[in-house]
Amino acid sequence: MEDSPRVKQYHRAQRILSVAAFLLDALVLVVLLASGWSISMRAAAERLTLHPAPALLVYLLFFGAITKVVGLPLDYIRGFRLEHRYGLSNLRLAGWVKDQLKGLAVGGLLAAVGLECLYGTMRRWPEHWWIISATLFVAFFVLLANLAPVLIFPIFFKFKPLANPALTERLLELSRRAGTRVRGVFEWKLSEKSKKANAALVGLGNTRRIILADTLLDRFSDDEVEAVLAHELGHHVHHHMAMNLAVQAVATYFGFFVVDRILARFSSACGFRGLADFANLPLLLLVGTALSLLLLPAVNGFSRRMERQADAYALRSIRDRTTFISSMEKLADLNLAETQPPAWIEFIFHSHPSLEKRIAFAREFSEQAGCDPATAPDS
Ligand SMILES: [Zn+2]
Repeated sequence: MEDSPRVKQYHRAQRILSVAAFLLDALVLVVLLASGWSISMRAAAERLTLHPAPALLVYLLFFGAITKVVGLPLDYIRGFRLEHRYGLSNLRLAGWVKDQLKGLAVGGLLAAVGLECLYGTMRRWPEHWWIISATLFVAFFVLLANLAPVLIFPIFFKFKPLANPALTERLLELSRRAGTRVRGVFEWKLSEKSKKANAALVGLGNTRRIILADTLLDRFSDDEVEAVLAHELGHHVHHHMAMNLAVQAVATYFGFFVVDRILARFSSACGFRGLADFANLPLLLLVGTALSLLLLPAVNGFSRRMERQADAYALRSIRDRTTFISSMEKLADLNLAETQPPAWIEFIFHSHPSLEKRIAFAREFSEQAGCDPATAPDS
């Protein structure tokens, strides 16, 4: 299926705005570093308190205010104007502002805790801080995966148990067959904000649950919902959450080690008092940004492989494979998805194979497998 000019325009605009936002963020960090403003902000914070932990908090308030104010116009165009222009949003401006404030509070709190912990370990264990901090961060990622569905998601969205006992039972049965203990199926009130559709298997251990957007429930048949969920369960069967956490762990240890080396090398040249001088935050973030950009194609390549495995699992576990294809087509339609992104864009930026490839894979899979799911290829 050929993408319409409207779809292409929407994605082109999104890409341009994302690149612009990325460059602007990096520019702000460079300016804070090169102009000496970061050191002035630290000095101003220390005029209020000489204790390093509260001084870092004051510094983060300055830092957060500057980056938020500079980034706000692009956030507004990207997150509000563009979505409205393409008829994808149900959010009013007041709702968008409210979400921004909530995001700032949650993100600010997480960032403050993370950075206090980082600079705290730098002060106490300057030799081994990167191992200790990376270990704490990885433990925190696991904790967050467990707590997010009950603590963070409800701040932004409403959830209620799915009011369709037949579908609930079908999805729970599908989960049992996949060997996961799911603690509930929830309707996710996404329509208050967006016209886009989504579904996910979220949480870890006692918070494991299926969430289905109301926008999806409105438009998809029960068979199609089952096909979408079967894909999510494919991630579970192939241990993708654990693999993602492992990749995140390796990247964190590696990233913190590189930060340690670079701070040791450039701290005095930049006028910092040493490793634990939090005026070096812009440099630390620039190193982190550069590393994540370098790792992006590899991480996305790995992710596309996992998505293909989850698709194969879905196709093996549902009765009618045509519902998988129709669910993909409906998702593309509702989400204004680009089914044929340029190959180089898919290679670098996309965590999922293009919808065209996923649908072609489903067709090929059905032809190879014939009517017997047991003979289906496993890839
Ligand atoms: Zn997936």
